[in-house]
Amino acid sequence: MKPRSSAAVAVLALALTATACSSGSDEAADKPVGGKSGVNEPSLPTYKVAEDVTIDSPTLKRAQEKGKLVIGAKSDQPGLGFEDKDGKRSGFDIEIAKMIAADLGFSPDQIQFKTVDTSAREAAISSGQVDLFVGTYTINDERKKLVGFAGPYYTAGADLLVRRDDGTIGGPFSLQGKTVCSVTGSTAIREIKKPDYNTTTVETAKYGECVEKLLAKQVDAVTTDDAILMGYAAQRPKDLKVVGSPFTEEPYGIGMAKNDKALREAVSDAIEKHDENGDHKKAYDATLGLSGSKYGGASMVDRY
Ligand code: GLU
Repeated sequence: MKPRSSAAVAVLALALTATACSSGSDEAADKPVGGKSGVNEPSLPTYKVAEDVTIDSPTLKRAQEKGKLVIGAKSDQPGLGFEDKDGKRSGFDIEIAKMIAADLGFSPDQIQFKTVDTSAREAAISSGQVDLFVGTYTINDERKKLVGFAGPYYTAGADLLVRRDDGTIGGPFSLQGKTVCSVTGSTAIREIKKPDYNTTTVETAKYGECVEKLLAKQVDAVTTDDAILMGYAAQRPKDLKVVGSPFTEEPYGIGMAKNDKALREAVSDAIEKHDENGDHKKAYDATLGLSGSKYGGASMVDRY
């Protein structure tokens, strides 16, 4: 993995601050980020479906027999992995899933998306409930003991979402005496529980529940990846803002069965191909980019 440079972090912080300062309209509330709702929105790429794919991967063979690829995803992260009331999925992670599925020989209608919460990802992958998982999934050594990762395809950083009228929180060290919400099993809850921050934590299963608590003034902040938080801020710009001081690095990978090296290689090839041919940036601009986040380029794929 190519670590994000401090310059890139500074640029991201500036972009986040700019977003936090921009005012929005009520119309932005409760809308998914990305998709085809606006007039001048950038369009999503389409992905050519590969034919006659033969890879010595037990997962792929099983999926080919079923005629469908089951992909675990998030459903409540606007701009990344969002499912609307009609069951339509949108977001950058959904696009990453579609481009990889296409290279494995599966068209969008042969993908079965399955919502999997943060804390259930490793179990869903290792039990075979999902063939792949694409959803803000940080690659780390602890998780690599249980699952395999291809990527990274994007690098986020933990940040804080606060109420727009709250000027008292400038970063994780100003959370002393405050209450912060995050999701069980996330890297964010683990980080914020460190004694250095000396704060009170509340855990939920989904980030949307934390955001509800923030709006209801039951907690003072929500912590997780900036990319996720910016999606929520973009939905309710009058009520919420992202602080804009990322304090961790979160390289996103595609999760799969631990020992399926052939699949890992094929997915890594797909990430590189769609980065080089411009699909990665185009998909970003039409999804996460609409939350105000600046494109940082794809990270260098780390093969192991
Ligand atoms: N990227 C972090 C993680 O994998 C937080 C986001 C999430 O819960 O998916 O734990």
